[in-house]
Amino acid sequence: MTHRIAVIPGDGIGGEVVPAAVEVLEALELGLEFVEGEAGDYVQQERGDALPQETYDLAAEADATLFGAAGETAADVILPLREAVGSFANVRPARAYPGVDAVKPETDIVFVRENTEGVYAGIEDDLTDDVTTLTRVITGSASRRIAEYGFEYAEENGFSDVTVAHKANVMRKTDGRFLSACEAVASEEEYEYDEALMDALAMHLILHPEEYGVVICPNLAGDMLSDLAAGLVGGLGLLPSANVGPDNALFEPVHGSAPDIAGEGVANPTATLLSAAMLLDHLEFEDEAARVRDAVTTVLADGPQTPDLGGNGTTGDVTEAVLDAL
Ligand code: ATP
Repeated sequence: MTHRIAVIPGDGIGGEVVPAAVEVLEALELGLEFVEGEAGDYVQQERGDALPQETYDLAAEADATLFGAAGETAADVILPLREAVGSFANVRPARAYPGVDAVKPETDIVFVRENTEGVYAGIEDDLTDDVTTLTRVITGSASRRIAEYGFEYAEENGFSDVTVAHKANVMRKTDGRFLSACEAVASEEEYEYDEALMDALAMHLILHPEEYGVVICPNLAGDMLSDLAAGLVGGLGLLPSANVGPDNALFEPVHGSAPDIAGEGVANPTATLLSAAMLLDHLEFEDEAARVRDAVTTVLADGPQTPDLGGNGTTGDVTEAVLDAL
């Protein structure tokens, strides 16, 4: 069966790292069909719409999507694209690799972030000239769904430590509901886990990342804590992510369009290559996913490395080396 992959490079370095990942996926000769879609700032400028309907439909109808980045229009692009694939879980592994100068080389954490609600529900209002409000939405159903996904992910991927991040001592009703949903799932399925206040957790993650495996988070906390963990393992150029729905999924590097280095050919393709490996897992090409991860790990250890990791290799040099290692 041919799998149809929507490829949406977007803005900035998205146009450099996504083609690198497609080259690696093509080299596996799995008969994947790639269909490219347009989205991002440049599309907004050209067509007055950062995410044309045909790109939304392309992602909705594909078997999986590989996305790069969007700049100023990020919210207008990625939020609807996540909706197009029915995504409710954002999975962000933060792992240190041999050969990369990491603050904490013992880090191996996967953030499982609820990504449909919380403070990103998009409900903001100007009440008066002086007062603006934001509504934080937490539902029992979405909380339960992310808890189920997070606990199952931990079990299937061999993580014994599961932590639920929250701030229920202050956001009593909303995070109270989030926490109760996690407690209910854990008690029904007999999962073990710890709870952690998200602010204290930020500090503990820096001091003792080795104590954490899977961290289940509400939306904003997951966004922030996973970027924090990127700092522990060597930078944003390394972190892949998956936006998972019941039948469809979108894969993207955690980093953005990096306008400061766009066009220079020095973007680190690792985050996107590892996102492509997650895409292969999703399509049940587990062996090929492992091959891509092994090849990326070999190149991170032996070089070449891009400037963000202290090397002087280009995106093309790293991609070539990964293709050789495959
Ligand atoms: P955006 O507005 O699209 O979010 P940004 O620059 O604010 O862009 P990121 O794109 O995430 O945010 O980049 C943050 C920093 O990390 C920048 O200095 C960027 O150059 C660096 N960076 C991000 N991704 C990479 C990468 N793949 N390779 C090298 N450096 C990267």
